[in-house]
Amino acid sequence: MKCEEIRPLLMAYLDGEIEEEERLEVEKHLSECENCRREYKSFVRLKEVTDNMRFADLSDELWAGYWKGVYRRIERGAGWVFLSIGAIILLAFGGYQFFKELFSDANISWIVKAGISTCAFGAIVLLVSIIRERVFLFKTDRYREVER
Ligand SMILES: [Zn+2]
Repeated sequence: MKCEEIRPLLMAYLDGEIEEEERLEVEKHLSECENCRREYKSFVRLKEVTDNMRFADLSDELWAGYWKGVYRRIERGAGWVFLSIGAIILLAFGGYQFFKELFSDANISWIVKAGISTCAFGAIVLLVSIIRERVFLFKTDRYREVER
């Protein structure tokens, strides 16, 4: 094959999108022709550059995905914090209603009242924390099963 016939095939040869017969012709010609070999090398460099550009695009997408993931985690974290605080406030209010009579009883020392309040508050915080943990574990278990 002549150079003019080989040149149009070089790009396809580089991409591996070429018939077996043509591939052998190109390889034979490249081993013999200095000019086409130089042309081919410039194609190889060009391909490297465009491949690198494609990699850069890909990693941009990956970074975007990463930041989306981080944002989602922060968002979820904040959601959980507000939900926990809200639950604690409501349960504390409920607890206060429950112990109202006790609190308004003047015969009971304020130390006992303070002790009961603190214990109740601690129990509420623990309850919310445990529920949250259960929900989280349930969720991760489910994800694991999906992966399996
Ligand atoms: Zn040639």
